[in-house]
Amino acid sequence: MTHLESYPDEKGYFGKFGGSFIPPQLELPFQEITKAYNEIKNSKAFLDELQYVRKHYQGRPTPISYAKSLTQFCGGAKIYLKREDLNHTGAHKLNHCMAEVILAKHLGKKKVIAETGAGQHGVALATAAAYFGLECEIHMGEVDIKKEYPNVVRMKILGAKIVPATHGLKTLKEAVDSAFEAYLGDTDNSIYCIGSVVGPHPFPMMVRDFQSVIGLESKEQFLEHENRLPDNVVACVGGGSNAMGIFSGFIDDKEVDLYGVEPLGKGESLGEHAASLTYGSEGVMHGFNSIMLKDEKGDPAPVYSIGSGIDYPSVGPEHAFLMDKGRTKVGLCNDEEAVDAFYKLSQLEGIIPALESAHAVAYAMKLAATLSKDKTILVNLSGRGDKDIDFVIENYPIANLK
Ligand SMILES: *Cc1c(COP(=O)(O)O)cnc(C)c1O
Repeated sequence: MTHLESYPDEKGYFGKFGGSFIPPQLELPFQEITKAYNEIKNSKAFLDELQYVRKHYQGRPTPISYAKSLTQFCGGAKIYLKREDLNHTGAHKLNHCMAEVILAKHLGKKKVIAETGAGQHGVALATAAAYFGLECEIHMGEVDIKKEYPNVVRMKILGAKIVPATHGLKTLKEAVDSAFEAYLGDTDNSIYCIGSVVGPHPFPMMVRDFQSVIGLESKEQFLEHENRLPDNVVACVGGGSNAMGIFSGFIDDKEVDLYGVEPLGKGESLGEHAASLTYGSEGVMHGFNSIMLKDEKGDPAPVYSIGSGIDYPSVGPEHAFLMDKGRTKVGLCNDEEAVDAFYKLSQLEGIIPALESAHAVAYAMKLAATLSKDKTILVNLSGRGDKDIDFVIENYPIANLK
């Protein structure tokens, strides 16, 4: 059996990680979602519909590009990019949003509810909801609403209702709390669409399955380029969906090294970063057991990253499991390295990456320099950087570049 077939188990566990820790009122609705998903995941009608929208609406397959100038600049291993930035809406998130909304339709729901950090999940879900004719309600931290304003406007134009999360640090974690609460009040009409491989079972499995298209395409496309598998695959990890998506194509190929890159932000102290796998410990948050960053009381710690889509104090349970098993490795990238990679990729390759994706690029650049020229690195370029350009140019002017 392959890894994807073997995990998670029936209760949603990847080893000791995952599961479902939810209030009793949510048990039935989540069982309903699990049952519906298990019924349709292999149905021809569902897969045909998904394949149709991916090809004729979303822009898949996305290409793999050889980053020749970046490779020469780093002076080591060859760097390739899986171009998830070329998805409609500009990131990998539409991969699971289109599928989640098809599932919602199948369940007869009228409305989709979700949280968003950088606004990318919100835009993707609002897009899918518009396409399929469902209502959409997006919860977003007040701080992120200010920082990611262009995406807020996009969601509103697409017809979504925005609900600001005004408590605590007013970022992604608070948005999740707020969205959960709204869903609890309206489980009959609505469905909660999680934005990553996190949350209670079945979401880590479902979102992983929907994102696995990245890895399955990549494997075939990389063989076309190099006639062999990549030596290394690198992806940034917030909740972990784009990373699980690309890893899915290679987990059973033991010769391929898999790197999840976490945001080191401003430094190693608690509150300055969001590197859950690196500095966290086992614990339950948002309904699942994983490796999380805790404060002195054991509650979710405050986190920070320049990439607002990756500042989350926990991580998908499958990542915790794969790291624990030694199958994946974890890399780090701080704000400054991410911004440097943001400019390098823009100026050397003509691709402006999302700040989240720039973390993976920065780590790949460091890794490439340590490897010989016959080695290869495949980077998942999870999204494009249009949403970040105002923030970057204001805070890291081009003149300051080394
Ligand atoms: C949301 C987002 C991420 C982080 O989410 P994962 O679930 O860790 O993939 C990374 N990159 C981009 C461009 C995003 O929008």
